[in-house]
Amino acid sequence: MVDFSLSDEERQIRDTVRTFITREVMPLEQEVLRNERAGAPAIDPSVLREVRDKARRAGFWGINTPEEYGGMNLGAVMTAILVMETGRSFVPFSFGGSADNILYGCDDEQKKRYLIPTLEGERRSCFAITEPGAGSDARNIRTRAVRDGGDWVINGEKTFITGGAEADFVMVFAVTDPGRGADGGVTCFLVDRDMGWKSEPIPTMGQWGPASLVFDDVRVPAANVLGEVDQGFPLAMRWIGQGRYIIPAHAIGAAERMLQMAVDYAKIRHSMGHPIADYQAIQWQIADSQVEIESAKWLTLYAAWRVQQGRDARHASSIAKLQGAVMANQVADRVLQIHGGLGYTKELPIERWYRELRLLRIFEGTDEIQRRTIARNLLKGHARLGGIGE
Ligand SMILES: Cc1cc2nc3c(=O)[nH]c(=O)nc-3n(C[C@H](O)[C@H](O)[C@H](O)COP(=O)(O)OP(=O)(O)OC[C@H]3O[C@@H](n4cnc5c(N)ncnc54)[C@H](O)[C@@H]3O)c2cc1C
Repeated sequence: MVDFSLSDEERQIRDTVRTFITREVMPLEQEVLRNERAGAPAIDPSVLREVRDKARRAGFWGINTPEEYGGMNLGAVMTAILVMETGRSFVPFSFGGSADNILYGCDDEQKKRYLIPTLEGERRSCFAITEPGAGSDARNIRTRAVRDGGDWVINGEKTFITGGAEADFVMVFAVTDPGRGADGGVTCFLVDRDMGWKSEPIPTMGQWGPASLVFDDVRVPAANVLGEVDQGFPLAMRWIGQGRYIIPAHAIGAAERMLQMAVDYAKIRHSMGHPIADYQAIQWQIADSQVEIESAKWLTLYAAWRVQQGRDARHASSIAKLQGAVMANQVADRVLQIHGGLGYTKELPIERWYRELRLLRIFEGTDEIQRRTIARNLLKGHARLGGIGE
C-alpha cells in the first residue's frame, strides 16, 4: 500500500528542525536584508557558525552523513524534508557535518586531509567541472592534466565555481586521456589552493558568488587523484545527481514561505473597497501556486525515495529538478505581483528570492538540459510512461 505518512520519529525530527529554523535562523533575516541594503555580505560567517554549533549541540549535525563519521544518516527522504525546512528562510544557513558525496570515495590518507576536515567545517571544498567552453556540454571539458614523474600537471580554466573564491581545495575534473575524453579519459583531482590555482570572484544577480579558477602549470601529487585515473566523469555525474533532489527541496521551502506571505497580505491589503483576497485574479494566483508547490513536493520526495532505495533516480530527479526550479520562479513572480509595489522593494525579501531562485533554472543542469534528459529517456526507452510502484 502507498503510505504518505511520516513515522512519529520522522515527524518529531521535522518539527524540531522547523522550530529551530523559526527560533534561531529566521530572527537573522532582518540583519541579512539590512546588510545587503548597505552593500555588505549577507551575514558574518561567525554568526552562521554559532547557529550551526547550536544545532550541533541540539543533535543536528551531518543529517545525511554516515554514522561511522558521526552523522545522523537520516537518508535522502528525510534530508529532502529537512532541506524544505531550511529553505523556508533566505538566511544562507545549512546544518554542519556534511561533505560532497564523492569525497566518501577518498582513500584513507585523503579522508584525513579532505573528507574529515570538510565534515568538521575546518576546510571548504568546491566542485569544478564547468569551463568557459563547456557548461551544459560538460563532456567537452578541455582542462588538461599531464603525468610528469610522480605528479600531474594541470592547465586550464574553470568558471562559475560555487565557493571557488573561499575554498581551501577543489575537486577539479581534467582530461587525462584526450582520445577518450568523457568516456574514460577524465580524472578528478583534489587540489589544495596552495598548490597554485588562482580564483577570481564573479559578481552575479544573487548572493550566490561563484568564481573562475585558473590552473597554470599546477603540480599535483599522484596521491591526490580521487578514485581511479580516467574514471572521473561518472564521479562528476554522481555529484551533480545529488543536487537534483536537494535543489527542488530547497525551492519548495522558499515557495511555501512566500506563498504564506501572499495569503496573509491578500487578506489585509484593501483595494476598491475589498481585501484583494476577494478578487478571483488573486485567488487563482494563490491556487496555482499551491498546486505547483505540491506537485514539486511529491516529485522531489519520489526522487529522494528512489535514491534512498538505491534505485536509478536519474529520470525522477530530472523531473523533480525541472518542476521545482520552474515552480519556484513562478511562485516568486506571483507573490511579488500580489504585493504590488511593496513586493518590488528591498523592505521585503521577495525581490531577493526572485533574484536568488532564478539560478535554480540554470545550475546543475538547465531547464533545457533536464527536458532533453527526460525526452531522451522516453524516446530511447530508458524510462516508460504509466509506471507506478515498480
Ligand atoms: C551561480 C552559479 C553557480 C554555479 N556553480 C557551479 C559549480 O559549483 N561547479 C560547476 O562546475 N559549475 C557551476 N555552475 C555552472 C553551471 O552548471 C552552468 O552555468 C550550467 O551548466 C549551464 O552552462 P553554461 O552557463 O555554459 O550555459 P550553456 O551550456 O552555454 O547554455 C546556454 C543556453 O543554451 C541552452 N542549451 C545548451 N545546450 C543545449 C542543448 N543541447 N539543447 C537545448 N538547449 C541547450 C542552455 O539550457 C542555456 O539556456 C554554476 C553556475 C552559476 C550561474
